[in-house]
Amino acid sequence: MSTEEVKAGLDALMSVGVAEIVLSGGNPLLREDIGEIIEYASRRFITTIYDNGSMALKKIDSLYDADFVAISLDSLDEKKNDYMRGVNGAWKKSTEAIEKLHEAGISVGVAPTITQLNLYEMEGFTRYFVEKGLPVWYAVYSHDYEDSLFGIGVRNDELEIVDNTEMVKLCDTLLRMKKERNGIFITDKTLLAVKELFLTGNRKWRCRALQNFVMVNHLGEASGCHLYAPAAQVTELPEVWNSRKFNALRAQYSNCQKCRYVCYLFYSIHRGIYGSIEILQDQLKNARSLFSEMYEPKRIVA
Ligand code: SF4
Repeated sequence: MSTEEVKAGLDALMSVGVAEIVLSGGNPLLREDIGEIIEYASRRFITTIYDNGSMALKKIDSLYDADFVAISLDSLDEKKNDYMRGVNGAWKKSTEAIEKLHEAGISVGVAPTITQLNLYEMEGFTRYFVEKGLPVWYAVYSHDYEDSLFGIGVRNDELEIVDNTEMVKLCDTLLRMKKERNGIFITDKTLLAVKELFLTGNRKWRCRALQNFVMVNHLGEASGCHLYAPAAQVTELPEVWNSRKFNALRAQYSNCQKCRYVCYLFYSIHRGIYGSIEILQDQLKNARSLFSEMYEPKRIVA
């Protein structure tokens, strides 16, 4: 997509009521025009950008406008992190990026994926970063169980969480830690849903794809999530959002149980305006410190 096509897509998303944009990848920072896109998006939406640590420092000037920058890091142990990520040097790049972005006043956070290999260190990992004033937000290892539009994750039995008891304990620990300190960016409701899943295998949520969230791929095709075929071009969304076709897809997705990705879970359980209030209440302390940061003048680039 050209820069203008991306901007037209963002306009379309705004007109159907989208409030938050997550630019993820691949790696969105590979785009030459990413600075212009982030600037355009952040004037209209809460804008988060994900990086695996490989690009953030090269594109640091593009990141000042982002509301959040999430850098993937899975372990404090360099060897373990690189093993889990499958890339030598990943730990060094991510930790450098986190440190330098933080020093530069960019709202950076650490984004680990919880797996069987780092499960036992997640409490210490969280404590380490939040005590440095760096927020942590989590994914839980998962992968597509069938063919999808584009693959997220590959099956890796080593990473699959098998110690459910420990995962339940971690949810309780994070619930407790959230009461004591700022910077743990996962809501109580999400933690309780994840806990229930690992405790009983039951999903406490109905999927709200195409209601609370929509996925747009690099070609500008919009779908409920990455596991389903595109339903429209992003620029067509204002026309089709309230169509019969979209309502039928919403009904279909609300009965779907094909995935357990925490991001889809999060946007499914926090619904509409009431959901936004819930998130704000849950993250009140974090929101206060973030808002005060957001109202500080951003860097002026001459
Ligand atoms: S549960 Fe929702 S997000 Fe997951 S595959 Fe089904 S429709 Fe997509």
